[in-house]
Amino acid sequence: MEYDLWRALDFLYAPGCNRCGMPIVEATSPDIQCPACIADPPVYNRARAALAYDDLSKPLVLNLKHGARKDGLRAYASWMLEAAPFVLEADQIVPIPLHWTRLWQRGYNQAAWLASSLAARSGGRYQPMLLHRHRRTPSQNGLSAGGRKRNVAGAFKVTERLDGQAILLVDDVMTTGATFNACAAALRKAGAALVDCVALARVVRPTAIEVPTPRLSRQLSIGAGVVDD
Ligand SMILES: [Zn+2]
Repeated sequence: MEYDLWRALDFLYAPGCNRCGMPIVEATSPDIQCPACIADPPVYNRARAALAYDDLSKPLVLNLKHGARKDGLRAYASWMLEAAPFVLEADQIVPIPLHWTRLWQRGYNQAAWLASSLAARSGGRYQPMLLHRHRRTPSQNGLSAGGRKRNVAGAFKVTERLDGQAILLVDDVMTTGATFNACAAALRKAGAALVDCVALARVVRPTAIEVPTPRLSRQLSIGAGVVDD
């Protein structure tokens, strides 16, 4: 990677929301939470991403996802570990699965490549078969936060009991966290004690965060054009 690009990337290493990892300017405490997480707590415990999803990081994500480029994986795993030290606590490291028809079409799952690289760095157990996407879900592109939630609700199944285990979910891009939440719900149902999440990049200002509490009701705009499954 070119030094100039690396220097320009927006790494999300500074403390932000303790649940979803959303950057918070001058976070005053390590336990601080963003308004969206206070109003509607995520199912997962913690989520972090290495990079803000922007014009500079987007080509890295697209090279991985559509270009089958594996050359950045070692660096990406280091960055994700730096952003999410809790990776080291995981008993099992699990990629967000594609539906088998999409896996067949694409030939690989870029989230699985990231999960495998992270497992190699952290010593956690890489488990690509633990979670299944048993329902083919339409693309999340262009959906509101509520639409994304409904789209993936109940789409995932876990293949074994996980009583008391710490699970780490891995994806390439986090947008609203709807997919992480749907997977976390399935993992909790199977007995997981802790479900943490890490992505290579995340949208830092999603198109629409729907905050259900009237007092906090508002929509934060920007960040369209995310390609995800
Ligand atoms: Zn949050």
